[in-house]
Amino acid sequence: MDVTRVRAMEPALAELKDRLGRVADLRRTGNVLVWDMTVFMPPGGAESRAKQLETLEQVIHAHETDDRLGELLDALEPYAASLPVDSDDACLLRVARRDWSKARRVPTELATELVLVTAQSYEAWVTAREESDFASFRPWLERVIDLRLRYVECFAPYDDPYDVLLDDYEPGMKTDEVRRVFAVLEPELVSLVATHASDEKDEFMRGPFSIESQTALSRELIEAFGATWDQFRLDTTVHPYEVTFGLHDIRLTTRYSEDDLLSVFTAMHECGHGLYEWGVSPSLERTPLCTGASAALHESQSRLWENVVGRSEPFWCWFYPRLQKTFPEQLGDVSRASFQRAISRPRRSLVRVDADETSYGLHILLRFELEQELVSGRLSVKELPEAWNTRFEELMGVAVPDDRLGVLQDAHWSGGSFGYFPTYLLGTVLAVQIWEKARAANPTLDEQIERGEFQELHMWLRENVYSLGRKFTPAETVERVVGGPIDPQPYLAYLRGKLGTPLPA
Ligand code: ZN
Repeated sequence: MDVTRVRAMEPALAELKDRLGRVADLRRTGNVLVWDMTVFMPPGGAESRAKQLETLEQVIHAHETDDRLGELLDALEPYAASLPVDSDDACLLRVARRDWSKARRVPTELATELVLVTAQSYEAWVTAREESDFASFRPWLERVIDLRLRYVECFAPYDDPYDVLLDDYEPGMKTDEVRRVFAVLEPELVSLVATHASDEKDEFMRGPFSIESQTALSRELIEAFGATWDQFRLDTTVHPYEVTFGLHDIRLTTRYSEDDLLSVFTAMHECGHGLYEWGVSPSLERTPLCTGASAALHESQSRLWENVVGRSEPFWCWFYPRLQKTFPEQLGDVSRASFQRAISRPRRSLVRVDADETSYGLHILLRFELEQELVSGRLSVKELPEAWNTRFEELMGVAVPDDRLGVLQDAHWSGGSFGYFPTYLLGTVLAVQIWEKARAANPTLDEQIERGEFQELHMWLRENVYSLGRKFTPAETVERVVGGPIDPQPYLAYLRGKLGTPLPA
């Protein structure tokens, strides 16, 4: 394309970027509202905050589906075709086109109804879970599924209704691919849990661990991984998460309990999400590309820091003396080997968020199966608790005592997030693939971690994963980073390696 014609495109490109920048600003404004709601807001603010979020969602939806965006994208087609496919502008135009077409498929009324009903359904779930009362939640879940099915119909024709739901979290990925990966994992994970699960109590893991000390440890780890407090914050919420306000404003949240040390792992997990967002190329700021490529890629980064690094032997060689010094009464006499067994041991866990590295996958396999059955209509909401309990026992080898610890344990379905769960396990699998690439490029990573040095790993991830942001599809991103598709074998080898070789006593 010649210079004159490129010049002619400049006003359209500038207008498009300005419009997309405003949508990005509005989205992050919504993030501030949600963050404040969970960190600081007094309960009395709930009603007005819900209204504010609903209004904001309507404004954002109107911006995202504006006819003018489509006109600009059409006008810029020849320009897009003239660019190298991996240039920022070419990627921006491709992703903006995709986002616009998707948003246009969903009528505003349906989008608004989904926001409203899922907010109410979430409230109903909170009470139902507390009281272990599935019956009171059932009509809400039926309504949410009904709305999600109407959402799916907006994308007809499709091969599989689940593809539509998955696509919101893993753009372009098909359910069949997830099935293929999970079919390899299932027999292996079932057998690893059946062989290695133990019910040892590890009393020394029950504290009490002062919250002040846990906060200091969390902050120390986040700093060691490379985050700086002029651009990060760590606060406390009921459910931990990471949220981005800007490329230089990353918010992490965590939770503490005096009875365990889970906060240490939560801090590393959320820090992994934060480092990903923080490392996106500054050239992508204020565009829809300034975020992670997908939910699974995001989770690959939180899991890499939390598990692959944060539960490894080199890591605890470095950090265990520090932990013992912080809690001399509780851990002074406990060997590092005993501590590491306690944090690595498979258990027949009932609750996903408390699960160890090995049994975690079984929790996801169960949810993925049930979601597909609900969406296809093969399973009714009424039959759900029984289906959950039966299948859970087959996979984990333990009976579910009640719905609070069973089908009611997660908030996702109440919020209409069907298709999200598989990304947790895909990310966990990917974490090991990405780690192996990082280690191949930096053969002394283990020794560095043993010295508490994370700079090289952080920089490798920044250069090879984080900086790409959302420029490429998840499949293209994975291909660029690991040189092939998602592969469950490295993850299985990693688990077998951990469980098969006993640590020295
Ligand atoms: Zn996560």
